[in-house]
Amino acid sequence: AFVLLLGGVDETKAATGGGALAAGVPIITDLDLPEIIVPGVCAHEECLVKEPDHKKIVQKAIEARGIKVKLAQVPIPVPFSAAFEGERVRKPDTHVQFGGKYSPAFEYLKTRGTDEIEDGKISVIGPEIDAMDEGSSHPLGIVIEVSGRKMTPDYEPILERQIHKYINYAMGIFHMGQRDMNWIRISKDAKKAGFKIRHFGDILVAKLHDEYGAIVDRVQVTLYTAAKDVERLLPEARKAFASRDARLAGMTDEAVDTFYSCTLCQSFAPDHVCVVSPERLGLCGAYSWLDARAAYEITPTGGNQPIKKGATEDAVKGIWHGINTFVKDASHNRVSKITIYSIMDSPMTSCGCFECVVAIVPEANGVMVVNREYAGETPAGMKFTTLASSVGGGNQTPGFIGVGRLYILSKKFISAEGGLKRVVWMPKELKEALGDRLKARSAEIGEPGLFDKIADESVTTDAAALVQYLAKVGHPALSMDPLV
Ligand code: SF4
Ligand code: ZN
Repeated sequence: AFVLLLGGVDETKAATGGGALAAGVPIITDLDLPEIIVPGVCAHEECLVKEPDHKKIVQKAIEARGIKVKLAQVPIPVPFSAAFEGERVRKPDTHVQFGGKYSPAFEYLKTRGTDEIEDGKISVIGPEIDAMDEGSSHPLGIVIEVSGRKMTPDYEPILERQIHKYINYAMGIFHMGQRDMNWIRISKDAKKAGFKIRHFGDILVAKLHDEYGAIVDRVQVTLYTAAKDVERLLPEARKAFASRDARLAGMTDEAVDTFYSCTLCQSFAPDHVCVVSPERLGLCGAYSWLDARAAYEITPTGGNQPIKKGATEDAVKGIWHGINTFVKDASHNRVSKITIYSIMDSPMTSCGCFECVVAIVPEANGVMVVNREYAGETPAGMKFTTLASSVGGGNQTPGFIGVGRLYILSKKFISAEGGLKRVVWMPKELKEALGDRLKARSAEIGEPGLFDKIADESVTTDAAALVQYLAKVGHPALSMDPLV
């Protein structure tokens, strides 16, 4: 941090400034004040710096603070750097948004033959940003086609997940989620600076070449902004997502001696570490164990590292010596113990991009699962947004975890607490999306009627009424060991 003090100083500002200096935060001002030197605090020793020229003052501040901004060469009209990755674009500052709960959208990367695509070709099919009203939501399909001698379909999810990072690097652009659950905002300032939809293509072409040049030779990007195209292409993308998920079927945590870390979200949640195992994917839903392994193959020094499980400390809760040692280090000593299968005892931390929140409903001796898209009330008395802010940020919050949707269907889903049988409530939409797979899992655990016993918002969003309903239908959670 640094302070820019412009155009005047009164008693309050002087006192605040004194506090800033004491905290080691330099002040850069256009006022004619005596320069103050506090040894050992700021990059250039002086901590109150004069710079009367407003054109130079920000650069001066960056230097005084010792901030290194590395700009990649990306041909877009807004600044582009990793420094902007954690930036949010709030609703009042948004010119246009895509996806989220507001419009259909997806992002999908696929491998093509070399002669099938043209390197650097960027097309926008449908309206450009100039035809989009301030405050509006539009559909968006981002299709990236890549080719390369070393490119294999195994790498597709890894490259695809970089879209999140790269688009966030642009100042005034916000990206969240992945696959067909992404959400993008372009700020009014970015629009004013001349940012167009096609610039997403410029970013993706430049960065994929820059960071994955060893794998991809050609990159072509097509941006679809008309609803009819996005809806036409969604099934193909969804089919690819489903077949990626299916590759893991049958793999177990016991069968491997190595899990993988993911620390890609440390730009938002600096101490957060996802531990990805064959039976528990990353909480954003984008990284399976196979994906993390492929990412490590591509970039051995990147955000996905192999973690040897080491000695088993608790097979039921999922505690391994090697995992804890890794997490302690990667969380900068914030978290020294995690369980992979428990929600109550030292659960895994969450960043902010979980697909669902699993939260304890103490009255019902069970848990509810709430997906990001659900905006209504829940039996815990909190909506998703409130739940998300208490779960996220890289903290350990017993009773609450962020998870990827597919983890709900895993045999290891909160298995320390009895697994799927604990689920007493979830929004109708999520229940229906899991549909037959949820029914199959219920049958597998000897609870064929569980699907109908799990309440949703059409039954109730009130904890007391929920307990009555669970008793009426004979939900197994009521007769399980106490959760708390
Ligand atoms: Fe990686 Fe986890 Fe972030 Fe997904 S949520 S990108 S798995 S750190
Ligand atoms: Zn995240």
